Amino acid sequence: MSMTPNLMFKKQGWIEVICGCMFSGKTEELIRRVRTALIAKQKVQLFNSRLDTRYGIGSIISHNQNKVDACCVKNSAEILPLIEKDTQVIAIDEVNFFDKGIVEVCEKLANQGKRVIVAGLDTDYRAEPFEVTAALMAKAEFVMKNHAVCTKCGNPATFTQRMTKDTKRIVVGTTDAYQARCRRCYRKPKERKAK
Ligand code: ADP
Ligand code: MG
Ligand code: ZN
Repeated sequence: MSMTPNLMFKKQGWIEVICGCMFSGKTEELIRRVRTALIAKQKVQLFNSRLDTRYGIGSIISHNQNKVDACCVKNSAEILPLIEKDTQVIAIDEVNFFDKGIVEVCEKLANQGKRVIVAGLDTDYRAEPFEVTAALMAKAEFVMKNHAVCTKCGNPATFTQRMTKDTKRIVVGTTDAYQARCRRCYRKPKERKAK
């Protein structure tokens, strides 16, 4: 298990990646880290993709009444202008929904001395890597891979099985459209022949 420091690297930024399949607790882990930072009285800014219309991560209020609102952005270019100078921690959920510019945005912020925490799917419904998550994993100081529970057999699940016939890469949905599956129970969808 990777270490997730709160108070390491004084005067230097870094990148943390939380990845895994759907339902593996990526958002829960991101929120836990944000809460801990708030308890430590750090200034946090939280971002979410506008593509994620499911339930939103809304705002988080810590026990000492610090509050962060999740800011919904359209693309990676919208993030940097929104960052306030005294922000110490930047958290981004569903990083796989972003364009590839998000990698440079995260690097810039880390180079400015900020702690950057991103959460996102490592692979799509065809079990192929999401390029932005893969790049961020390679460039990050810390990577955590979460497991869900396989819906069929209860083993640790690392794959996301799409239950609909959609072939678009990004289709927003929850348990109606996706199931967590282990390596044995995951079935790769057949490639649709273009007509
Ligand atoms: P992610 O952001 O990785 O999609 P969330 O943090 O939103 O995951 O949700 C994780 C929660 O989902 C778990 O704590 C659990 O309550 C619920 N859940 C639903 N289905 C599963 C499953 N198959 N395996 C594990 N957790 C599941
Ligand atoms: Mg999530
Ligand atoms: Zn299984």
